[in-house]
Amino acid sequence: MILDGRAVAGKIKAEVAQRAAELSKKGVQPKLAVVVAGEDPASAVYVRHKVQACTEVGIASEVHRFGGEVTTETLMAAVRGLNTKAEVHGVLVQLPLPPQVDEEAVLDTIEPSKDVDGFHAFHVGRLWQGRPKLVPCTPAGVMRLLTAYGIEVRGREAVVVGRSRIVGRPMAGLLVNAGATVTIAHSQTRDLGAVTRRAELLVVAVGKPGLIDASMVREEAVVVDVGINRLPDGRLAGDVDFATVAPRVRAITPVPGGVGPMTVAMLLVNTLEAAQTQLGGGQ
Ligand code: NAD
Repeated sequence: MILDGRAVAGKIKAEVAQRAAELSKKGVQPKLAVVVAGEDPASAVYVRHKVQACTEVGIASEVHRFGGEVTTETLMAAVRGLNTKAEVHGVLVQLPLPPQVDEEAVLDTIEPSKDVDGFHAFHVGRLWQGRPKLVPCTPAGVMRLLTAYGIEVRGREAVVVGRSRIVGRPMAGLLVNAGATVTIAHSQTRDLGAVTRRAELLVVAVGKPGLIDASMVREEAVVVDVGINRLPDGRLAGDVDFATVAPRVRAITPVPGGVGPMTVAMLLVNTLEAAQTQLGGGQ
C-alpha cells in the first residue's frame, strides 16, 4: 500500500479552506507571517510552497526577507514586531538561518500562541506532557497520514531514526502519546539495522539517500520516509531505498508525494488553529 500524502493533504486543505472562509465571514482572515534570511535555495522553494498553499485555502500571508548578513538582534526585533501585530496569527522563521545568527534565540522569541512550527519550549513541553497545543508540522502530518489510512499505532513497536527538534524528537513524542513503544535511533546508534528490524512502524528522518535498505526492514512493517534528498541527477529521493523495501512492507510513503505535502497541510491547520485560539474560539 502506498500512503498517498498528496491525496490526504488535498482533503485537509479543503477542510481548512472551509474553516478559513467561515472565519473570514466573521471579519477575520487568518494570516501567516514568514521570516526568511539569506539565500538558501531549498528555503526559497519551501517558502514559495507555503505561501502558495496559504493562498489556495484563503489564508493571508506575508514574507519578511532579510539578507545573509542579518544579525540575531534584527531578526529578534522582527519577530517581536510580528508578535504584537493582531492581524498576524502565525509566525514562522524559515530554517536554516545564516551561521552568524543564534537560531535558538530567534525561535525562542516567537510568542507561543503564534508559533505555528511548534518549536518553542512551551510546545515541546506540552507535547511531552501528553497535552499538545501546536505540534511541529512534519510529525503532525505523519500522524494524520497514518490515521487517514487506518493504521493502528497503539501497542505497536515503533522506531524513529533521527532525533532532530523538527522531526525525530516530536515524532517520538506523538507516537508515545498514541500508545506505541518507541525507540529513537540516531547517528550514534550501533547496528542501526538491528534496531530498525524490530519496527512494526518505522519512521526515518535523517537526510541520507538509501540509508535504509530491504535488509533493515521487518516484513509487513509500515514505513514512513521523511527524508528529502536531491540526487546528483536532479531527482528527489527519501532515506529509504523504495524499490527494494516497498515489496517487503505493508505500507510505505513515496518521496516525493508522501510526507512533504502533509507537512504543508499541517502548517495551514496550525495557522488556522492559532487564529481560532487567538480569537477565543480555539479548541
Ligand atoms: P537533521 O540533520 O536535523 O537531523 C538528522 C538526524 O539524523 C540527526 O538526529 C542524526 O542523529 C540522525 N542521523 C544522521 N546520520 C545517521 C545515521 N547514519 N544513522 C542514524 N541516524 C543518523 O535533519 P532533519 O531536519 O530532522 O531532517 C531529516 C530529513 O528529513 C532531511 O532529509 C530533511 O530534508 C527531511 N525533512 C523533510 C520534511 C518533509 O516535509 N518531508 C520536513 C523536514 C525535514
